[in-house]
Amino acid sequence: MGFDTSGLLPLSDALQGMLEQLACCCDSEQLPLPEAFGRVLASDIASPLAVPPFDNSAMDGYAVRLADLATGTPLIMAGKAFAGQPYQGEWPAGHCVRIMTGAPLPAGTDAVVMQEETQADGDRITFLCEPTAGQNIRLAGSDIGKGACVLQAGTRLTPREMPLLASLGVATVAVHRPLKVAIFSTGDELKPVGTPLAHGDIYDSNRYGVRAMLARMGCDCLDLGIIPDDPAQLRAAFIRADEEANVLITTGGVSVGEADFTKQLLDELGEIGFWKLAIKPGKPFAFGRLPRAWFFGLPGNPVSAMVTFDQLVQPALAKLAGQHFERPLQLQAIVAEPLKKSPGRLDFQRGIMSQGPNGLEVRSTGSQDSAVFSSLSRANCYIVLERERGRVAVGETVTVEPFGGLLL
Ligand code: AMP
Ligand code: MG
Repeated sequence: MGFDTSGLLPLSDALQGMLEQLACCCDSEQLPLPEAFGRVLASDIASPLAVPPFDNSAMDGYAVRLADLATGTPLIMAGKAFAGQPYQGEWPAGHCVRIMTGAPLPAGTDAVVMQEETQADGDRITFLCEPTAGQNIRLAGSDIGKGACVLQAGTRLTPREMPLLASLGVATVAVHRPLKVAIFSTGDELKPVGTPLAHGDIYDSNRYGVRAMLARMGCDCLDLGIIPDDPAQLRAAFIRADEEANVLITTGGVSVGEADFTKQLLDELGEIGFWKLAIKPGKPFAFGRLPRAWFFGLPGNPVSAMVTFDQLVQPALAKLAGQHFERPLQLQAIVAEPLKKSPGRLDFQRGIMSQGPNGLEVRSTGSQDSAVFSSLSRANCYIVLERERGRVAVGETVTVEPFGGLLL
């Protein structure tokens, strides 16, 4: 092992500790349906209609009364019913009605016989099968009953919800205003893309990852850029973020290096806990409050910044934004190459899962150093290795977490 891990905070405790303190801080507003795409519902949606609103045909064919078919003789076609053009005429005994998919059933219909099971000779229709009552009929309200809760508050509107709401005739919806999140990167070595690098400089990559993940979550981002390791400039940036945003997310400066001024400043400005998490990557992490805004301090190493955002900040932001958060799906996979691991922390190794001859297999993407970003960009899943687990041999079963909404 080589280091004492007893003082490290388990991920689940950190998550629970954060979520207990957080509540939705976004007001709601009423928006026209198309503009509400990507927003989070602020209240439940009860269906104003039954869906379908009337009994209708599930097939192109003929609407029949079973009593008329008992004789076995052909029926005379009385007329036609189309979607949007109901059959309005008489429908005497011994008749049927030609009907198209989605057309309202003529009153008294017992069943719809699909066209392929009939033979037409002019208006005389012969039925080649014995229909059962109710076949090929979609009953009013069979999908959604009038007044039923179709979507719960906290649901983010995706392409799956938009047509559902439209099918109910919902023209406007109450949604939360987006969470406003200020971000900046800290570090004297950081330069923005599009500028040359001096010796010792690197490009600021974290801000691009954090911005992209905030965009995926539907947050409004106030990007304050790169702030050097300078107490006066850091203080000014913290104060501005606190005044203008609900949340501040920074990267870098939360470990114990000599240029890590954030701790000092934050102790003075707010109530911030500096945690050492029992996860790898991502040991240093800060969470707490500024006078108005919540604060999340991510580690500077690029892989750690992304992983801690995904695992810890995402559920926290969802709660602040009023959004219901689903725990990511976890699957079991067989390890196809040995994995290095020392007991002590919960590992989120970066892996490539694929379908093997005996089911799901997973391999590491190579170096798991938290500065090696290619290990994340090549991956399609985390390999989640339990805290006490050591090396993993080929053939052992491990938990994998496919990259979902934020990282895909
Ligand atoms: P720190 O947490 O500030 O000590 O940073 C840890 C490591 O992450 C150092 O190698 C930094 O240069 C690097 N780093 C910090 N911030 C960023 C960033 N925004 N983009 C890329 N690398 C970073
Ligand atoms: Mg730094």
